[in-house]
Formats: sequence, structure tokens, C-alpha cells
Amino acid sequence: MNPQMLNESAKVVVVGAGPVGLALGIELGRRGIPCTLIERNDRVGYSPRAKTTNVRTREHLRRWGIADTLRQASPIAPDRPSTVVFATRMNGHFLTRFENALNGNRERNNFYSEEAQWVPQYVLEDVLRRHAQSFPCVTIQFQTEFVSFEQTDDGVVTTVRDLVSGDVRTLSSAYLLGADGARSAVRDAIGARMIGEGAYSRNYSIIFRSPELAGRHVHEPAIMYWMVNSDVPSLLGPMDEKGLWFFMATKLAGDVDPVTLDPADLIRRGTGLSDLPVEIVGTDLWVAHRLVADRYSHGRVFLAGDACHLHPPFGGFGMNMGIGDAVDLGWKLTARLQGWGGETLLASYETERRKVHERTIAEAVINFGSTANQLVRPGLEDSGIIGDATRNEVADIIEATKVREFMTLGIVLGMRYENSPIIVPDGSEPPPEHFMLYTPSAHPGCLAPHLWLIDGSSLYDHFGDGFTLLVTEGELDDADAFAATAAKRGVPVKVLAPNDERLRERYEARFALIRPDQHVAWRGNVLPSDPASLIDRLTGTTCHERADAVLSS
Ligand SMILES: Cc1cc2nc3c(=O)[nH]c(=O)nc-3n(C[C@H](O)[C@H](O)[C@H](O)COP(=O)(O)OP(=O)(O)OC[C@H]3O[C@@H](n4cnc5c(N)ncnc54)[C@H](O)[C@@H]3O)c2cc1C
Repeated sequence: MNPQMLNESAKVVVVGAGPVGLALGIELGRRGIPCTLIERNDRVGYSPRAKTTNVRTREHLRRWGIADTLRQASPIAPDRPSTVVFATRMNGHFLTRFENALNGNRERNNFYSEEAQWVPQYVLEDVLRRHAQSFPCVTIQFQTEFVSFEQTDDGVVTTVRDLVSGDVRTLSSAYLLGADGARSAVRDAIGARMIGEGAYSRNYSIIFRSPELAGRHVHEPAIMYWMVNSDVPSLLGPMDEKGLWFFMATKLAGDVDPVTLDPADLIRRGTGLSDLPVEIVGTDLWVAHRLVADRYSHGRVFLAGDACHLHPPFGGFGMNMGIGDAVDLGWKLTARLQGWGGETLLASYETERRKVHERTIAEAVINFGSTANQLVRPGLEDSGIIGDATRNEVADIIEATKVREFMTLGIVLGMRYENSPIIVPDGSEPPPEHFMLYTPSAHPGCLAPHLWLIDGSSLYDHFGDGFTLLVTEGELDDADAFAATAAKRGVPVKVLAPNDERLRERYEARFALIRPDQHVAWRGNVLPSDPASLIDRLTGTTCHERADAVLSS
């Protein structure tokens, strides 16, 4: 291992440079926190799995300044409609469609600042990698494997192995983060266990090349085609516009040995195009789990992403939720390392994220309960009025059951941290919690309601990197005094008064304090007479820690 390549002064060591590790690198790197990512692969971007980069992740990309970069990097044409088609086969009967699935159409909506994007995970990872490496304080060490760690009250010593030379060496840091995926060694090392139902369904994904397919199928352009037939219930979608596709056969029967499956035969049977030329690029047998770690941390070691939650990919939540973990952990670790955050801040990570994980996973499991395997009916492919009647019946079932999988704002934007110790309740009723419908609300703990401002800019673009004190009406004197008190304690607070009268109604208060992750931490019509107490609460600082900080300053 080349010692020059290692960031010896890293404050944080991250194991894994998948999407979650890279997001952690970005959250820390953009705030100047030195960190080293340890990745056993020789590069990022092996995974073709995720295609849905959802609205919330794209809002984070926008905050990081790379939302347009991903749009431009995508091999999927920007004008491809975000439509999901249900049909019996690619040359068979149309059943129904969902338009603007996952809120992927490019149209402005006050609910969010970025639409979702259908883009292969390997493209997103490469964009994240380039951005992470643009920060001088971020190092990615490829072909390096996590071996073990030891921690003291002051820090963590991580042992890693260079997979090329075999050399073993240690890295010292203040924190260690396990973003090392489903088989997380960091998770094992902290003694955490995955609780729930493991491996309850086997599924088979295939990446294949077939430039002919676009001209051979009979359906409209879409991001996903569900093929509801009893032969090979499956789904399929584009990975680019040049003939690269994914195909997924869901819920293999228990007695099927995947080794015996001929991928080209599966594709031809599923699509109904029995003579379709296909070149198999890769195959991926994956199992569906419903698992959450029994703990997300131990001392100075934290888990994020698949390392602490696993669930079926229906709804496209897994990677997106892991990136949300990185965002939550990123600003809290920064606050701690910069000296303005207390211990409670880090403890709140699990309180806040576990509830989001459990709610989202329950939704993904419901979605996985109605795949093409469950939707197929005898006679579905028959011609004539009996076949038509069966197809109408199945289309009705699809429309009623699958709409929640493609209209997901209630899950994606509706997550809230109201029970967190660093959120201050205001006694108001929370907005309705619904899996599909999102009700913007500044109820403390909710995502700050978004708005396109009169000048055409996104409200979020004006938020600061630290806290933002949003003033929806009235004078700024109190707000400026509050920010000055915060600054004395090292807490970054930006005062923002956009002068847009809709904000008073949308936030239902004169003031709202918004965290670095864009969640509302507190709101009120008057700022507290003792601002320091509020600041300490929001930054998880106890009296004891405050006294220590004063003594050491
Ligand atoms: C078929 C399918 C489709 C999916 N579609 C979607 C979707 O549309 N949207 C979505 O949000 N999610 C989707 N997912 C889920 C998504 O792929 C995962 O949630 C995501 O990859 C998790 O990211 P991660 O960074 O936590 O883990 P990983 O992506 O697993 O990354 C972990 C990294 O850690 C490295 N690593 C592991 N162990 C070590 C070690 N000991 N030392 C050093 N490095 C190590 C690995 O090499 C890897 O690079 C899908 C999953 C499947 C199976």
C-alpha cells in the first residue's frame, strides 16, 4: 500500500464506497472534515441494481451541486416518459399504465425541488465518486479491505488490508462508519444482529443487450414494463437508449435451481419474443429480506445503508434511504467534530432513522406482495371478450394495488423525526401520515415545506449549510440577535427572509429553525427569551458539555 495514498489525519474512516459511503464522503468532505473511504473493489460502479434515484435523493444532489451533473451523465434520454406499463408480454396485451411514476417527469411541483430520475446505480455512483474526490480532505482507498477495529474513549483504530500487496496496517480516526452493505463486517464487529425475516424469496436479474428489442415490442416508451404472464412473471426496463436492458424474473419457485436457468430463454419467454437476439451481459441472483439491525452503533462506530437495513427493492427505497442515513449522520458528525454538537446529537441518529427504516420497509414489503406472480389470472392472454374481461379485471387490481409503489411521496418526503430528542415539539397536530400522499408541514420534525419562490428559485437553494432561521414575516432584529448568540457557541445559523407571503401560511409560524438536513427543528411566533437553551437542545448539547466547552475555550 502506498502510504501517500492514505489520509493519515482522517477524522472519519468509512468502510465501503457504495452509494451510501460516497454520500457520507460528500457530506463530510463539503464541510472540510478529513475522511478516508476504504473500498475492497478496484473502483465504484459495479452495481446495476438501483434505477430509481428518488425525489429526496435528487434534492440532496441539488444541495451538493451535482443534480444537473447526474442528469447529463444519464444514459437514459431526458425525454423518456416516467411511465410504467403493465402488459402480458412485450408483444402482448396492454393492461394499464402509471404516468409520472415516482414523480420522475420534468415538471415543477411545489412539493419538491428536483424530480426523480431513472438512472443506473453505477452511473450515480460514478457521479458521487467524482464529487467526493473533488474535496481535498476526502481519500478513497480502493482494493483495501476492512479487517477489524479497536476503540477507546478518544477514537478508533481500524485495521485494513491492501488486497494487492497483502499488507496490513492501521488507521486512527475519531469515528468509524460501516457503509459496507448487506454482509457488513463492521456490523458483525460491533456485535449487531439483523432482526426480521431473511431470504424469503429468490429472484433473478439479468442485464442484457438487445438493440432490436426497442423496435420489436408493441408498447409505448416507458421506464419499466411489467410482464404479467404465468410463464415467466417478470419486469424489464432500459439501462440506456442503445439496447441495454435489465430483466427481472420475480419469486422463483422453491424447487428451481438458478444454475439450471438459461437467461436468454427466460427473457424470450417472459417477453414473448421467442426469436429475440440477446447478448447476456450479467446475471444477479438476489434474495428478498426484511431485516433491520438491532443496534446501529457502538461507541464511536456507526452503521448506515444496507449494513443496517435490507428489504425488497419494490418502490426503489433501499439506496435512497441509505443516502438519507448518510445525510443525517453527516451533519451530526460534523457538528461533533467541529465542537458545536453534543453526544445526544449522535444518539439521535438511531432514534430518527430507525422509525424511517421501519415505515419504509413495511411499505416495500407490501409492494413486494403484489408482483406479476400474484397478478396473473387464468385466461389473461386469451383473445375475445372473455380475455378482455379478465384483462379489465386485472387492470383494475393493478391500478388499485400498485399505485402506492409508483406514487411514493408520502414515504419519500413524509418521513419525520418528531420523537427525536433534538426536535422541539410545539404542541400542534402532526400532518396526516400516509404512504402515498404527502402533506407539506412545518410541524417540528417534518421536512421543511418546499416552495418555488417568486423569482423562480427553490426555497431550499437559499438555506445555509448549517441551521437556517427562516423568517416568514416581520422584522429581522430578533433573528439577527438569535444568530449572533448561536455564532458565539460556534453554531452556524443563517437568517433567511425571502419576503414571500405564502411562507407564513405554509410554515404556520413567523419563525422556523431548519436543520442542515432541511428538517424543521423548531418553530414559533416569537424567538425564545433564552436562545442558548434552544440552541443547546437542537445541537444535543448538555449543560455538562457546555461547561466543558467553556473551560476549554
Ligand atoms: C434488484 C435490486 C434493485 C434495486 N433497485 C433499487 C432502486 O431502484 N432504488 C434504490 O434506492 N435501491 C435499490 N436497490 C437497493 C440498492 O441497490 C442498495 O440499497 C444499495 O446498493 C445499498 O448501498 P450501500 O452503499 O449501503 O451498500 P453497497 O451498495 O452494498 O455498497 C457497499 C460497499 O462496501 C464495500 N465493502 C463491503 N465489505 C467491505 C469490506 N470488508 N472492506 C471494504 N469494503 C467493503 C463493497 O465492495 C461495496 O462497494 C435495489 C436492490 C436490488 C437487489
